[in-house]
Amino acid sequence: MTQVAEPGSAAGATSTHGAGQGTLGAVHHWIGGRIVEGTSGRRGPVFDPATGRIAREVDFATTDEVAAAVAAAKAAFPAWRASSLSKRTDILFKIRNLVESRRTELAAHLTAEHGKVPSDALGEIARGIENLEFACSIPNLLKGGFTEQASTGVDVFQIRQPLGVVAGITPFNFPAMVPMWMFATAIATGNTFILKPSEKDPSASMFLAELLHEAGVPDGVFNVVHGDKVAVDAILEHPDVAAVSFVGSTPIARYIYETGTKNGKRVQALGGAKNHMIVLPDADIDMAADAAISAGYGSAGERCMAIATIVAVGDVADPLVAAITKRLPQVKIGPGSDPQAEMGPLVTRQHRDKVASYLDSSAAQGATVVADGREHPLFKDSDGFFLGVSLIDHVSTEMDAYKDEIFGPVLTVVRVPTYEAAVGLVNDNPYGNGTAIFTRDGGAARQFQFEVLAGMVGINVPIPVPVAYYSFGGWKSSLFGDLHMYGPEGIQFYTRAKIVTQRWPDPGTSKIDLGFPRTR
Ligand code: NAD
Repeated sequence: MTQVAEPGSAAGATSTHGAGQGTLGAVHHWIGGRIVEGTSGRRGPVFDPATGRIAREVDFATTDEVAAAVAAAKAAFPAWRASSLSKRTDILFKIRNLVESRRTELAAHLTAEHGKVPSDALGEIARGIENLEFACSIPNLLKGGFTEQASTGVDVFQIRQPLGVVAGITPFNFPAMVPMWMFATAIATGNTFILKPSEKDPSASMFLAELLHEAGVPDGVFNVVHGDKVAVDAILEHPDVAAVSFVGSTPIARYIYETGTKNGKRVQALGGAKNHMIVLPDADIDMAADAAISAGYGSAGERCMAIATIVAVGDVADPLVAAITKRLPQVKIGPGSDPQAEMGPLVTRQHRDKVASYLDSSAAQGATVVADGREHPLFKDSDGFFLGVSLIDHVSTEMDAYKDEIFGPVLTVVRVPTYEAAVGLVNDNPYGNGTAIFTRDGGAARQFQFEVLAGMVGINVPIPVPVAYYSFGGWKSSLFGDLHMYGPEGIQFYTRAKIVTQRWPDPGTSKIDLGFPRTR
């Protein structure tokens, strides 16, 4: 993470976005229902990826500032958990409606700092809103079981109660949706929440904080601290943080899981991905090619559910690669201010250059570069972090472009002879987030769904992100922990069960009995 030596030195700041910003265009923290300026003197640059300029800076929290947020959340917890479910539902409806009515402003923050084009930003927000809508049904979701007459005159029932202060640590690629995956369910179930968003695009979280405030979320129930490893470690080590949800890259997810659980916290840590799309010889080639383009280059490939690897089975490879190649010029690349643009820049220059480096390593390792995104005029002539769409054929499993998560607009094609070889590739891969199969054969699709080792499976659907009333999560190195995120498993993650066994004997009928119950 880059640090900026001189706070406020963001020459060329162009922000018109007010979210959480104080003097000098800096993004501050949100603690206890108000903006709190950082005191560390450490800040990170926030770029406008379309121009390559630093647009503003973001405060990096100290351990004490994180502790202040935890204290605010802890103080707010007793009243919030005691608030009625109908009151919480009312507030969640208001949050949902505010996010919906202010979605264009929220989308502008995403475009300004992440670089994704407005249509994609609005799609991200729509998927986040689904999580708020799911959380609006919290009275129904928290219904427990009740057993009458478990023993004579004895009833047993289960209630689910919140954990207390919980934290969410989120990645740069979904600065609005992933926080909504977490906080919608966390606060609906009665917890208070601390968000540590990505330092690369922090303004969306401050805008959300203001909307939650406007919706009537009490002070301290939702807090935002910005920063780097210092802030993350302060969360992981604070004794009053009961649970941590994380979404990001696999090495950091593993670290969060190991450190958080060692410190006695409940942790769900979602990691990186390498999603394969298998195309069988009987597939509709045009449909598969359209899907590959959409899922490979949407959001400049910076989606954890993006298709990275196309596995072409048998003789489908040549026509499939030809159909994808034919479509490449149709992808309109440009800044979010261009209404025609379908794909924006990458998030930082450093990341863009790393993504582009796979084109050279693939060629050196024997693959065929069919399309090189560095030939796009915006790569050559713009200061923005643009890269054109790239396609690499004849990739094999020893190549870096296959082994690494590239996280950019680079589609790779691996050619295999059989369905068995294709499934073997997916199952041997260390990641297991999403995968897809394209075929007209229902039997093959069912076999694939049965045996593939991945958490989310698409059948003629390239990006099978579950709707909000299911839960989201990968397998293998794509998730550390037991429970997937949002949906029913999110409710489980943010609550703990309490089982009550009760009886109401008539006065005078009790007696001493040191044994276990012997009669039924
Ligand atoms: P990242 O792991 O670099 O950062 C994620 C979060 O961790 C950020 O808040 C960051 O500040 C923090 N962080 C970074 N380095 C840290 C360190 N050394 N110690 C403590 N905290 C640290 O991820 P990213 O680059 O922001 O996001 C892209 C990654 O996220 C990709 O790997 C992508 O696949 C993954 N992702 C996964 C999912 C999923 O659901 N599985 C969803 C979205 C993104």
